[in-house]
Amino acid sequence: HAKAQMPGNFAFYTDNLVRNVSRKLELERHIAGALKRNEFEVYYQPKVDARSHKIVSFEALLRWFSPELGAVSPVEFIPIAEKSGLIEELGVFVLQEALSTLALWQEHYAATLSMAINLSPVQFRSSDLIPTIESFCLNFNLNSKTIEFEITEGVLLADYPDIEEKLKRLESLGVNMAMDDFGTGYSSMSYLRKYKFDTLKIDREFIIDLAREESDRKLVFATIAMAHQLGMRVVAEGVETEEQQAILVEQQCDYLQGWLFSKPLPTDQVMQLLDQQFAVKDASPTYFSTE
Ligand code: C2E
Ligand code: MG
Ligand code: MG
Ligand code: MG
Repeated sequence: HAKAQMPGNFAFYTDNLVRNVSRKLELERHIAGALKRNEFEVYYQPKVDARSHKIVSFEALLRWFSPELGAVSPVEFIPIAEKSGLIEELGVFVLQEALSTLALWQEHYAATLSMAINLSPVQFRSSDLIPTIESFCLNFNLNSKTIEFEITEGVLLADYPDIEEKLKRLESLGVNMAMDDFGTGYSSMSYLRKYKFDTLKIDREFIIDLAREESDRKLVFATIAMAHQLGMRVVAEGVETEEQQAILVEQQCDYLQGWLFSKPLPTDQVMQLLDQQFAVKDASPTYFSTE
């Protein structure tokens, strides 16, 4: 029945192909003016200190709410924005939003709060990237030590001629650098030799089965020990359960990020969390009204 199956499989294959291509075209069509139409928003996901569970930092995560397409995941639209070049403008938008928000929260809550921002390899193509970052730091009067950039090995793989120089300039601004999605690439280890990171983020892939898989526990344990040996702090991504948290704390992981603590949230909801954490004990008596 091989013959009979072939056309069916082929039809299935082309159906999928057509669906994927038309979805992509649709996204490309709608993303073009989306920034000007204010359809993008930056959400913030807290990172907590592994021991105290206090919020110490945030990761800025871009969200696209399209009136026509609904909420589109960055996993889907970032590659499209990278291809079209829109990522440059989007990147500036995220920098401006995240850094102005950080300045506000530092003033309002604690000067030690920090912010991590993802940088796409494509953003390193532009000669404006570093001056833009520099001017936002100055304009918002931010201590560069409270800013962190998350890059994947893709950045170090991109063969733009002056990529190393750009990374050096970024480093000289005094900002922190984090290696994102550690363990999922092809050469994470060799990049740890080539480039000095302050933080290592263990990908969620290794966290998911932490409570069930001994091999994952060993891998994560060894990764944390290695990172500490190299003078890096470790963040675990995608912590969803208390079992995972307990294992990570036991393994000396420094910071935790995941739904167990908070999903990525819009600013007003983050501020509710910060209000609780930094609540000043009211010195004046509280009066209860019966009305
Ligand atoms: P990433 O930088 O590795 O971000 C972590 C992703 O894990 C986020 O997905 C976050 O929402 C998700 N996450 C966090 N905790 C949990 C958890 O406990 N469980 C599960 N299932 N997921 C969790 P998101 O927001 O969809 O972003 C996906 C990717 O898109 C990011 O991966 C990053 O590579 C990219 N991205 C997002 N925002 C930006 C941006 O502003 N600029 C650039 N260049 N890339 C971005
Ligand atoms: Mg990230
Ligand atoms: Mg990550
Ligand atoms: Mg990841």
